[in-house]
Amino acid sequence: MEKKYNLAIVGYGGMGGYHANHILKDQPRIAITGIYDINPERMEAAITDGYQVYDSLDAICSDETIDIVLIATPNDVHKEIAIRALNAKKHVVCEKPVTIYSKDFEEMIAVAEENNQVLMVHQNRRWDQDFLTTKKMFDEKMVGDVFQIESRVHGANGIPGDWRHLKEHGGGMVLDWGVHLLDQLLFMVDSKLTSVYANLSYILGDEVDDGFQTYLTFENGINALVEVGTTNFITLPRWYIKGTEGTAIINDWSINGKIVKQNSDVLAAAPKPIQAGQGLTKTMAPPSEEATSTLALPSVEKSMEDFYENLVSVIEKKAEAIVKNEEVLRILKLMEVIFKAAENNEVIKLSL
Ligand code: NAD
Repeated sequence: MEKKYNLAIVGYGGMGGYHANHILKDQPRIAITGIYDINPERMEAAITDGYQVYDSLDAICSDETIDIVLIATPNDVHKEIAIRALNAKKHVVCEKPVTIYSKDFEEMIAVAEENNQVLMVHQNRRWDQDFLTTKKMFDEKMVGDVFQIESRVHGANGIPGDWRHLKEHGGGMVLDWGVHLLDQLLFMVDSKLTSVYANLSYILGDEVDDGFQTYLTFENGINALVEVGTTNFITLPRWYIKGTEGTAIINDWSINGKIVKQNSDVLAAAPKPIQAGQGLTKTMAPPSEEATSTLALPSVEKSMEDFYENLVSVIEKKAEAIVKNEEVLRILKLMEVIFKAAENNEVIKLSL
């Protein structure tokens, strides 16, 4: 019979609860053996939800039946908890951003290697349907060669919760949502970054950014805009992709959108001039129906193992990690550059 791995959760807040009651619910190879949270109310909640609780992190580390520790605490304590669990010979799954600074993650990687344990970061948005749809269009050149990518998430509810407002806990939107959008982008575009510019917003008056825009250039010529906003009462599309043969748009997480492609015999269908404001324009006229074809977005079948299936395969040395630590490290370094570019209001040239 296949081994079932015992997993303990540290931090039973929003995301710890989501792992326990949603993501790990029907995992055939992983069983939740218990939960620890520093907040007694969250320990009570775990008991009410039917879980056993541990009264300390030490109790988890010294329980030899536990194979995996999942860390879902605020960002500033991930490292300390991970290192203690790794040194106790537990595999570790850590929530994103794994650390605030890249050098801390380098230490964690070294400790995982010394102890011969798997350390994997939960960059779960690599499995998001909107991203996989974009990646399929990109990989299969459905709009020709992509040269511009715009990836945005917009909310109007400010920064939720408590610790996300505070720098010492690793709050702010670059670290919170930026880490996901940048991870998706760099997972998709196989090229080095050559320049980074960014601006951060502080509309809510917090000490951390409540949104940002960053402009990235890749060695292969692709330009990208990544934008996060929390005070956007009108939202812009989730994805806007321009290629040499067309444009694609994905409006939302329900994958509403379309591809509009240029037909090859465009000369036969020159645009008609339109009145635009106080002038006339052919350049900005909508393309004629003959000049373009509108296509549905592609559907995406399961293209890779789920996160936890992959974790088990990695532990059993049957597969490579889908979320590789060197990729996670690159994103942490990129976020450091984004903060620097924004602070100094400069375009930073680099090779990353
Ligand atoms: P939260 O505030 O809802 O929960 C954090 C929990 O950790 C709280 O219950 C708190 O009491 C507990 N805690 C704090 N310090 C602890 C410690 N030293 N030991 C044990 N427990 C401790 O926060 P959240 O929204 O659940 O975020 C937790 C982590 O998950 C963060 O790193 C966040 O970025 C990440 N997250 C990831 C996703 C995703 O989609 N991957 C989504 C949301 C949050």
